[in-house]
Amino acid sequence: MQEWIKELKAWAGKWPDNAVGYFVSEFGLDPGFALIAALLYVALHAAGLKPRITSGFRDPEKQKAMREAWDAGQRKGLVVRPADPKKSGHTQMTWLGKPGSRAIDIVTNNNKLAADIGRALGLRAGYYFTTSDPGHFDNLGA
Ligand SMILES: [Zn+2]
Repeated sequence: MQEWIKELKAWAGKWPDNAVGYFVSEFGLDPGFALIAALLYVALHAAGLKPRITSGFRDPEKQKAMREAWDAGQRKGLVVRPADPKKSGHTQMTWLGKPGSRAIDIVTNNNKLAADIGRALGLRAGYYFTTSDPGHFDNLGA
């Protein structure tokens, strides 16, 4: 593990662990993903990137509707074509049928640095997707 990640974890202390419940209930994240998402949030904050979470879980039906709207030319508020709900990290459910998003969107003031930090923490960063999706992070590759 890189030294700065150890230092980050030491600096963050129990905050990420304590934040898991909030990240699960407020953003519908998978509990395992919530811990790394909380750590990412702390890292982005510590780096001065002024993180703001804009999206976690999305209802698969809503995601499908957003995708259809995009295809019909209604793209207001969307940066990229919404992913297939069967493949998107945002529409994952837990095995108990609860929201279990394995993706989170975080707006910052430096998308590239945020993406590099996310990658260092083992996440996929949308910034580097073929069709760039700045601010998107997921652990679907894990
Ligand atoms: Zn996203």
